[in-house]
Amino acid sequence: MSWYGPLLKGFVWPPLLRREGRASALVHEARFRESQYWPRQKLLDDQWEKLRTLLVLASKHSSYYRRVFEERGLTPSSFKSPADLVLLPRLTRATIFAEQDSLKTGLHPGGDVMKFATGGTTVRAATLYRDQESYNIKLGLSFRHEAWAGRRPGGRMLLYWPASMDFIEDPPWRTRFKDRFLLGERIVQGGLQTPESLRHGFEVLAAYRPDMLKVFPNSLSPFADYFEAQGLEAPPIRGILSTGEPLYPETRARFERVFDCPVFDLYASREVGHSSCECEAHEGRHIAMETSILEFVGPDDQGLPAGERGDILVTDLTNMAFPLIRYEIGDRGFALEGSCSCGRELARMGSAVGRSADEVFLASGRAITGHAFGRHVLNRDDVGEIQVIQRSVGSFHLLITDDPPPSPEAIEGLIAGTRKLAGKQVEVSIEVVSEIPRERSGKKRYVKCELSPEEITRLRSVAAGL
Ligand SMILES: [Zn+2]
Repeated sequence: MSWYGPLLKGFVWPPLLRREGRASALVHEARFRESQYWPRQKLLDDQWEKLRTLLVLASKHSSYYRRVFEERGLTPSSFKSPADLVLLPRLTRATIFAEQDSLKTGLHPGGDVMKFATGGTTVRAATLYRDQESYNIKLGLSFRHEAWAGRRPGGRMLLYWPASMDFIEDPPWRTRFKDRFLLGERIVQGGLQTPESLRHGFEVLAAYRPDMLKVFPNSLSPFADYFEAQGLEAPPIRGILSTGEPLYPETRARFERVFDCPVFDLYASREVGHSSCECEAHEGRHIAMETSILEFVGPDDQGLPAGERGDILVTDLTNMAFPLIRYEIGDRGFALEGSCSCGRELARMGSAVGRSADEVFLASGRAITGHAFGRHVLNRDDVGEIQVIQRSVGSFHLLITDDPPPSPEAIEGLIAGTRKLAGKQVEVSIEVVSEIPRERSGKKRYVKCELSPEEITRLRSVAAGL
């Protein structure tokens, strides 16, 4: 079969992608395969060139940015390096919501502008726009990252996917055939955890024989459990690309054991596509410097030194229809120092990223990650699934599934554990439910913070001593 994939990709993909206006994705992929080995300075020069173009275009064609530049007395030449991005404010979801039309540039390289919703779950979704060429660049980039995770040219990928919004009900057979057997992409609904759906997932995996899986870890977890409980053996898989939710070390180790392949952590979002991805060295995630600038900032919007966790601000260097400059994506992360043993000089960020909402806060402003909660409080074998909801600074509500029914000792243990971690005086209530509700995106969260963004900003300032 070694000739079949390259043949598909070389001769069948181009006309298929061309019909959908996506053919340039293959050209971009070829460029990204080269640029991944560029020296750091060349990457930085390229990034700066793209940023300059974006700043000129935004200040000229987007009435929102025209106004911001004017108010701050800026012109594109006020920017001497990417570090000068601090001259511009964060772009929040609330701003996007309020300024949707004035953000648009009216430019649409590569074809019509596409419309899509932000991936956010804690704040109401806003509408974003993207030009076709930006989409194609992102597609080319995703091909590169899929290759890092083991997808061979023209090889198959199975998406074990929770997000119900990505499912088209009963697509026509032509579309199904094209996606599955020509473009090599198949989606399985991983959100349902009934024995039938798990069995179905196994049958599809065994028959489809993909090179790699692209998964949300919380969806693949029950699938891995099922494999272990039933003593099933996975067909040979070359890699798993994990995205959408934080990937914890225990989960990664379990996937590697059950599916007998390496796991690659990918940081991606609906708004800007792939932002960073692990290479075969697994030493943090390489930032896609060719398509974006990632900043890790404190509450004062200033960049933090490597290793220090802050809010992630993304500048999308590809979207000419709807400039996203210093976009506050709602995640936290940190830059890594030094270089990767793989030889690529693309900058790296740490793997322990969480949505801001995956943290809870103490009155002192200190944040506790979902990971810490998972390890110290929720890690019990006598209860089912648990979700911790922070309703106010001093009050936590725990949802626990009823299978198995939690014993009084388990409930006591959870309350005591929460207080040990979050403070003796916090209020803890427990509710037994049949299922942990999913977010609109299909994700499940272990930890959910319902504090308002203003309250979170205030607490972070307290912690930072501002
Ligand atoms: Zn590397």
